[in-house]
This record gives sequence, structure tokens and C-alpha cells, in this order.
Amino acid sequence: MALIVQKYGGSSVADADAIKRVAERIVAQKKAGYDVVVVVSAMGDTTDELLDLAKQVSPLPPGRELDMLLTAGERISMALVAMAIGNLGYEARSFTGSQAGVITTSLHGNAKIIDVTPGRIRDALAEGAICIVAGFQGVSQDSKDITTLGRGGSDTTAVALAAALNADLCEIYTDVDGVFTADPRIVPSARRIPQISYEEMLEMAASGAKILHLRCVEYARRYNIPLHVRSSFSQKPGTWVVSEVEETEGMEQPIISGVAHDRSEAKITVVGVPDRVGEAAAIFKALADAEINVDMIVQNVSAASTSRTDISFTLPADSGQNALAALKKIQDKVGFESLLYNDRIGKVSLIGAGMRSYPGVTARFFDAVAREGINIEMISTSEIRISIVVAQDDVDAAVAAAHREFQLDADQVEAVVYGGTGR
Ligand code: ADP
Ligand code: ASP
Ligand code: MG
Repeated sequence: MALIVQKYGGSSVADADAIKRVAERIVAQKKAGYDVVVVVSAMGDTTDELLDLAKQVSPLPPGRELDMLLTAGERISMALVAMAIGNLGYEARSFTGSQAGVITTSLHGNAKIIDVTPGRIRDALAEGAICIVAGFQGVSQDSKDITTLGRGGSDTTAVALAAALNADLCEIYTDVDGVFTADPRIVPSARRIPQISYEEMLEMAASGAKILHLRCVEYARRYNIPLHVRSSFSQKPGTWVVSEVEETEGMEQPIISGVAHDRSEAKITVVGVPDRVGEAAAIFKALADAEINVDMIVQNVSAASTSRTDISFTLPADSGQNALAALKKIQDKVGFESLLYNDRIGKVSLIGAGMRSYPGVTARFFDAVAREGINIEMISTSEIRISIVVAQDDVDAAVAAAHREFQLDADQVEAVVYGGTGR
């Protein structure tokens, strides 16, 4: 029997009515003859609310306890979805990540899946039950503690289960009709992308388009699992994320597929670094030892008069305080003068496999941004992406300008945001 894995995000299970609607969708698949495994996120903004609560009782909650708390969100939805399905006359059983065999590393808050052993899911399916699995969580192989996979990680749970169960299809249900040329919450004229390659989707996700979790796309590419991203609020066709986009006859592939933005990063400038061999290595070694993921890096040319230079880099704002502490520890050894911290920045990225063969994309992008009077603070590129850092208040205008410049605007508004608060 064909097996389908479906994932429902927070806004799709935000309240009792939403859960009942999702249960009907799940039962419809079962009735159509599929074995069904469902991965659920926490209801609405539950994860953020639990995080707020934790911060009220402790400014720096221990990772182990924070994971224990956050995983409760997904447990609530999995049980409610299973009950709602039961109420429709079908058997559903809920499983925590640990019960579903999601084995991870032990890094709390950002654990990686190292194995999936879904024996209990297979047994339940064989007995005819619909399986509901709590997303975003697993159990550490070493410490046996409960872990979480990072914000948005339920997408990754779904793909990992689809791979382990050899599913025929993995559907990601969310609050928009698929992947659009930009976040429909800030560009209402964004266009739905019918098909996108893993490669471009990876760059979009890595650039902050939170429609899919980055590691979910990496996983899907590695195991060649086609993803179907669509809305749980409509029957519209959605977006297929696949290895090779089918050529539509007579249609050239666009140069730019989409514009992504990210407001979750901060910028640190290490001021007055002595211009000596090994200084940059010492700085980034200290950050690596503190498990900080550095994104963009810019090193200025040193001023001849001082033989000192400034090094700026971006990182997740969540790691800002840890990074500053790690750098202060090596200040005397490295001999830099001071540290500057700015979390009022945003990153805007242009993504498109077509830019490989078209020169001039960078110039057009920068010109469009300049015409809005927006200053570019940092730049980085890959083969199919150009990213800039701007002031956070300029992000929306920069995204809209790039979207317009590369003719991505739809003739008629087709982007609908069905739910969610965008938090
Ligand atoms: P879920 O809770 O279903 O996982 P998320 O909030 O994580 O949903 O992701 C869906 C949201 O992603 C959309 O509501 C939208 O605001 C945002 N988003 C960002 N970039 C894009 C894009 N390029 N296309 C579609 N949605 C996007
Ligand atoms: N509930 C978690 C979050 O809000 C995981 C997810 O929704 O994918 O990040
Ligand atoms: Mg998500």
C-alpha cells in the first residue's frame, strides 16, 4: 500500500476547529487507500509562548529543561489530532519523537538527526492505524535526554520519517499555498513557484525563507524525496521541490527564482585587530569552540598608519551574547581594541540558478536597492545567490525593490496568507 507522510504546521492546528479540519483531511487520505503518517507542530504560537514563559522564570534556562518544555507543545497537538481522528471513526495513535525512533545528537536546541528507527510506527501502520508523530523532537543517543531540532524543525522530522519509511510522498501543509517568489506577508504580489529545485530551495531556506527548515531540504535532497508544499486551508496545487525542474515548452527559466529575507541575524565588528598572520584564525576558532555559526564575514583593508583592521561578521542574534563573551576572553591575547554589536540588521538575498549564465544581476540588484535610498552594509555571494545586509527597517523595501526589478510581481494577486501571526 502506498505510504504518505504529511506534516501540519502550527497555524494548521492552531485551535480545536483547525484540528478537526486537519483530521478530516487525514481521514480522506486514509479512505483513498493510503497508509498515513502525520507529523504535527505545536498549536499556533505555543513554542514562542513557552519560550517567553521560560524566560520569565530564568534569564538563561538550561538547554535540557528548555527542550523538555518546548517538546510539550508538539505532544499537545499530537494527542488532540489523534483524538479528533478517533472521533471520525478511524484509529489513530500518537507517538513522541523518541517513541517514533528519532535519534539525535545531544546538542539541546539544535540537535541533528543521526538515525530514525520507526519500528513502532511500522507496527501501528501494519495494524491499520494512522500514526501521529510529534515533530521537532528526538532523543539523544548519548545522554538519552529529549532534544529539539531547532526552530521550524518539524519539517525535518517529516522528511526524515519519509526517508526511513520509504514513503511515496511527503507533503508539507502550511498557511500559504506553497513556496512563493518572496514571503507573501511582505510582498502581496509574490508569485507561487510551481516547481523549484532542491538547490534553489536550499539557498532560499538558508537565506531565511522560513517556509521550509533548511535541514529538511538537505535531507530531501540526500534521499531524493520529492516534497509537496501546500496549504492545509485550500485545495490549490502548491509547490513541488524536486531534483530537476521540468522545462515548460517555450518557456525560458527565469534568471531569479525568488527573494528571501532574514531578520534573525546580528552583526559583530571586532575593531582594531592587529594586522598579523593568524589573528582572524584565532577569532573564528574562539567562535567555533563556542559552537557559533558565523554567516557573512567582511575584513577591511588595514589602515597603513595603524596596521590595524576591522573584521565584521553576522551570526544568529540568539548567539550574540555567547559570541561576545567568547571574544572578550581572547581580547588580550589577540589585542583587538573593542567590539561593536548591532542586532538591528536584516539580510536580503536574491536566489536563482539562472544568474550563473547572466552577467549584470548584481549591478541591477544593487541599483534597485540604491534607488530606494537604502545603504548596503555587507555583501556575500554564492554561485546562485547574492546577499546583502541592510538596516532592519529597510528590509521590506529592499525585498520589494528586488522583486520588482526582476519582474517577479504577479499580474493579479494570487498570494493568500490563511493564518498564523508570522511570529
Ligand atoms: P508552519 O507553521 O506551517 O511551519 P511557518 O511559519 O514555519 O509555517 O512557514 C510558513 C511561512 O513562511 C509563511 O506564512 C510565510 O510568511 C513564510 N515565508 C517566508 N518566505 C516564504 C516564501 N518564499 N514563500 C512562502 N512563504 C514564505
Ligand atoms: N514548534 C516548533 C517551532 O515553532 C517546530 C515547528 O513548528 O516546526 O519552531
Ligand atoms: Mg515551519
